[in-house]
Amino acid sequence: MAQVLAIGLFAAARAALSARAAPRSPEPDSTDAYLPAAAIPQEGPPYVIAIDAGHGGTDVGAQGSVDESAMTEATIGYVEEWLSRDGNYTPVRTHPYDMFSENTERAAAANSARAALLLSVHGNSDPYSANSYGFECYPQPPGRICHDAALRFAHLIAARFGAEGQRLRGTAGVRYIYYVGDDAHGYEKEVIEESDETVRTEQTFGLLEKTNCPAVLVEQCFVTSPSDVDGWGDEDGCRRAARLYYEAICEYFGTEPLAA
Ligand SMILES: [Zn+2]
Repeated sequence: MAQVLAIGLFAAARAALSARAAPRSPEPDSTDAYLPAAAIPQEGPPYVIAIDAGHGGTDVGAQGSVDESAMTEATIGYVEEWLSRDGNYTPVRTHPYDMFSENTERAAAANSARAALLLSVHGNSDPYSANSYGFECYPQPPGRICHDAALRFAHLIAARFGAEGQRLRGTAGVRYIYYVGDDAHGYEKEVIEESDETVRTEQTFGLLEKTNCPAVLVEQCFVTSPSDVDGWGDEDGCRRAARLYYEAICEYFGTEPLAA
């Protein structure tokens, strides 16, 4: 029943979103209004887990063999199912199903729920080549309050994808991203390997900057790669990925995962 429901949601999301395109901002969010002052102490069990389906609603994200938002909604739906069944966790969505929400609102939802951890699921894209593929994820970078814990969570996730045969981009599938530039000349994303612990002042993803618990944004696969989608972006791929996120969350908090 649960699977049938989720498949229905996946199909519905694809149908509803396939005709729409969304503008994508290359600029970092303004963080003038808000920066986390301190990490919220973890309370639990049950641990509150903020789960974020990247994009949604009018913003379909990247488009390829699958729309990014359809993939993120399907994956987060399965993650929510696992966490809901496990008494050690309370999942909290950062935004309603298939509805666009700004990063500030998503972070506020996680922060007000006193989330102990945030997982944001996205899909990568390469408009120039169908051959780009693989997994990577981004924890809060060095110098941020929750960096150490976020980095640990990121490695727990990436290690599982690597063990299940997904290619890990970079040295270990864990990287930092920074917006480099200025308002006058525009911004470009710069990717740095996780081994570089240099503390930098440039902004990373807005959701990571504004969330005051350990947070990781994952790029599950390339939606522009049919073979990557076949492995990790279709219905079965989203289900497999969700199980890995759930297991990584369990290892992070030291709980025994429910039987698969
Ligand atoms: Zn995305």
